[in-house]
Amino acid sequence: MQADLLVIGGGISGLSLAHYASGAGLKTIVLEKSEQAGGCLSTMRRPDGFWLDLGAHTCYNSYSNLIGIIEDCGVREKLLQREKVPFMMLVDGKVKSIPSQLDFIELACSVPRIFTLAKTGRTVGSYYPRIVGRKNFDRVIGPALSAVPSQRADDFPADMLFKKRKRRKDIIKKFTVKQGLQTVADAASGGKGIELITGADVVSVTATGRMFEVSISGGRVFRSGNLSLAVPPHVASRLISNILPDAAARLSEIKISQIESFGVVVRKDAVELPLFTGLIPVNDLFFSIVSRDTVADPVYRGFTFHFRSGLDRTEKTKRIAEVLCTDKFEASSENLTVLPSPVLGHEKTVADIDRLIAGERVFITGNFFSGLAIEDCVTRSLTEFHRLKAEL
Ligand SMILES: Cc1cc2nc3c(=O)[nH]c(=O)nc-3n(C[C@H](O)[C@H](O)[C@H](O)COP(=O)(O)OP(=O)(O)OC[C@H]3O[C@@H](n4cnc5c(N)ncnc54)[C@H](O)[C@@H]3O)c2cc1C
Repeated sequence: MQADLLVIGGGISGLSLAHYASGAGLKTIVLEKSEQAGGCLSTMRRPDGFWLDLGAHTCYNSYSNLIGIIEDCGVREKLLQREKVPFMMLVDGKVKSIPSQLDFIELACSVPRIFTLAKTGRTVGSYYPRIVGRKNFDRVIGPALSAVPSQRADDFPADMLFKKRKRRKDIIKKFTVKQGLQTVADAASGGKGIELITGADVVSVTATGRMFEVSISGGRVFRSGNLSLAVPPHVASRLISNILPDAAARLSEIKISQIESFGVVVRKDAVELPLFTGLIPVNDLFFSIVSRDTVADPVYRGFTFHFRSGLDRTEKTKRIAEVLCTDKFEASSENLTVLPSPVLGHEKTVADIDRLIAGERVFITGNFFSGLAIEDCVTRSLTEFHRLKAEL
């Protein structure tokens, strides 16, 4: 089977590149290992209409490239406002407000350093304790920052977690989508000129002349003159080790973490916890709980726990039941994803990768270039699409 562009990986990075390429008239095939597209955009959906995001959950009106795709795909009318409910902390089994856990004297003494201490070149663990105070960092800010990438974030470059972007005032500030964020992946993968093939686990890539040959498990082979990798860095590294060994070596240096998410649906009357957007624990088996309370439902509440890795299902369900004070789950679903764990020097690693693939018809996208946010993925795909267009 032949295409103008083969994309390996059907998460938002691969789908956004496929969207741009198909829009330019290129016949594009997306090969996705799982049975559905979306990757980290994964929604558990019940037959009665209740849904719960197991991965990404929030988009902002500053995600202008993503919004462009949402508009192109005709799903803008499905955007939903996320209701304002607070982030809270779980301390010694009790739900507490974030301000109640902060030491404001320590904060007032530390925060002026924000004007003199550079973020660049520092890790989260070396920057933030100086800005908020050590006690505040250990008790509140450190756990909150680790909740963002669902992994201990102390070694992340301090300037990589949050970004300022221009907002689109005509779009809801903080939004999700009807039936969850997977709706965006569903819409993008159904675009004209895109063929999504699920259950396609790519096992090897070879280059013959100007053509790439991509084999999936089961033996089927796909051919194209243009190849995109939109998979986690360790997978991209393995797949291009024969054709671009130097770029593969740099990709293999990017650390990754497995994110183990476990969503449960319970009847509203079975849980007494206050409404919250996210619940952040201090030293628990999980990094955060993200709730569906931001899109209230008359019957159910939903909670996705993002666990530390290495626990079995029994340990996870036991801890969930303890926190929710009920084991009456109407539904549950697990989701495994991978996120990068960037460290200082990450920018140089990705600059090297860009240098090593320049001039090649291999286009690499993903959440390990400029940032983890969905918009970072789409922006990277747009950059790679411009390079592809220039090569045509
Ligand atoms: C729990 C969680 C919460 C998040 N919350 C937010 C949020 O609220 N807002 C936000 O902006 N961002 C959020 N993010 C980050 C964001 O969702 C991700 O960075 C982004 O969706 C990653 O997209 P991707 O396409 O680069 O990678 P992925 O989504 O990981 O997609 C990669 C795809 O490649 C496929 N694949 C892997 N190997 C192969 C192979 N050999 N052959 C074929 N296919 C393969 C995988 O199955 C997967 O579908 C969150 C992430 C997680 C995990």
